[in-house]
Amino acid sequence: MKLSSMFLHTLKEDPRDAEVVSHKLMLRASMIKKLASGIYSYLPYGLKALKKVEKVIREEMNAAGAQEVLMPAVQPAEVWKESGRWNVYGKELLRFLDRKGGEFALGPTHEEVITSIVRDEVHSYRDLPVNLYQIQTKFRDEIRPRFGVMRSREFIMKDAYSFDIDDQGAEKSYDAMFKAYERIFSRCGLRFKPVEADTGPIGGNYSHEFMVLASTGEDIILSCGKCSYAANLEKAEIAKPESLDLKQAPEGAPEKVHTPGVRTVEEVCGFLGVTAKDLIKTLIYSTDNGIVAALVRGDHDVNEAKLKRAAGCETLELADEGTIEKFTKAPRGFAGPVGLSIKKIADFGLLDAGQNVTGANEEDYHLKNVWLARDAKVDLVADIRNAQEGDLCPRCSGGTLGAIRGIEVGHVFKLGIKYSKAMNASYLDVNGDLKPIIMGCYGIGVSRVLAAAIEQYADENGIVFPVPIAPYPVIVLPVSITDEKVMGEAKRIYDELNSRGVDTLIDDRDARPGVKFMDADLIGVPYRITVGARGLNEGVVEVKERSSGTVEKIPLGEVVDYCLARVNV
Ligand SMILES: [Zn+2]
Repeated sequence: MKLSSMFLHTLKEDPRDAEVVSHKLMLRASMIKKLASGIYSYLPYGLKALKKVEKVIREEMNAAGAQEVLMPAVQPAEVWKESGRWNVYGKELLRFLDRKGGEFALGPTHEEVITSIVRDEVHSYRDLPVNLYQIQTKFRDEIRPRFGVMRSREFIMKDAYSFDIDDQGAEKSYDAMFKAYERIFSRCGLRFKPVEADTGPIGGNYSHEFMVLASTGEDIILSCGKCSYAANLEKAEIAKPESLDLKQAPEGAPEKVHTPGVRTVEEVCGFLGVTAKDLIKTLIYSTDNGIVAALVRGDHDVNEAKLKRAAGCETLELADEGTIEKFTKAPRGFAGPVGLSIKKIADFGLLDAGQNVTGANEEDYHLKNVWLARDAKVDLVADIRNAQEGDLCPRCSGGTLGAIRGIEVGHVFKLGIKYSKAMNASYLDVNGDLKPIIMGCYGIGVSRVLAAAIEQYADENGIVFPVPIAPYPVIVLPVSITDEKVMGEAKRIYDELNSRGVDTLIDDRDARPGVKFMDADLIGVPYRITVGARGLNEGVVEVKERSSGTVEKIPLGEVVDYCLARVNV
């Protein structure tokens, strides 16, 4: 492709409304263009990169035995009503009426559609297993779309669905997808980690997220330094203590202290001269299983997914001011476990004595010298907080967890019979009995893979594409377009690379070399071949590797093979 005629309009400066690196650079490199909040067009350079990612995904999905389909973006309400999600999905589901008043939605995911297809087509165990996937545009009406294509409303996703006759088969399908995902992200040139993710009501280790490691990532991953345990923050467990007995403190009766207007952990610490570790933080939650008080150390954070499991509830949210006052007899900020007559769940972190300051359930008062074992009847001691760096590993002995950041690009999940049961997708087994089909679902955020790759490798000069997903792995840069010899050689190298299967650019624009160098760096082309008059006199061209910045002089006759070896076509 010749840059002189390419629809590529790079920007020198960061656009003002872009917050994260990938968003800034995708706009600056003319990859995407915003149409409305969270809705983007892919321009030629961005689309070319997207197609490379799609190609890798397609090849690996097909190799794993999945078959490609293409389902509609517009979905009728009926299938959503059948699965029971029409009323519970919330506002992310963009709903609308057609001209006849029929209810429809823009598909945020396709469990309903695929299950309705398989229900109609599959009747016998002989038709199973089957895995169907698509690469298609989804729409989720995010309340606050941001970070460009990283969190957009319209996005491109690969979603696959497996259908099996039993759990054993479903596990095999899950495993095949897990391995396919490892190959996909490796082939895209990414550093990534599969981590355990929360499965909600399904349970077991049947959900993994694939995280691209990047210091700018939104997600926190806890991983053991000693064994292979890794989980996202929501799921990461903490090693279970040997005993769940709350330890009795040696001395001191509870003492009420006047703490006017002192509510937050920081304020209490400052006022009383204690550390956050000395505090018992008491958070009141409203759940579908009653009101619950979650007790954690002042320097810990409640993990709501864990609290849900411990409390045996499905929904849970922090109680409003009125509820807090009703149950604690005090405004927010003064709740404590002593004398509180609702279900109290204490975190493992409170097992050791040493935590002794808490709210007094009275406005402007706290209690000192509180010992849970003596002063408050705790209903349950459980793991209800977020794991953090330095916590003990739940899988091995002696390992500690470290925290790193990542960007979720894929998710594999065992669905079980949730949809097949609700939508009557069943098959006749060997004995002629009707059984529900066991399902799994497997997603990859295709547009997110691109953004994550940019986040992982970008430097101060711009994008650094890994070779396998670079729109063009090589750019030929003639220093002067008026020098016939320079242009002749540049054109020869460009033509030869293209004819040998390397997508190659040539910067034949009438621009200063400095501008061309800056653009080549900005758009992240892995190899830049600079053709100049001085080099030609010596019979060489300069090849710069974008990722390492190293520059080598390569003889004219060898440069094509040199590039071919590196871009691995
Ligand atoms: Zn470990």
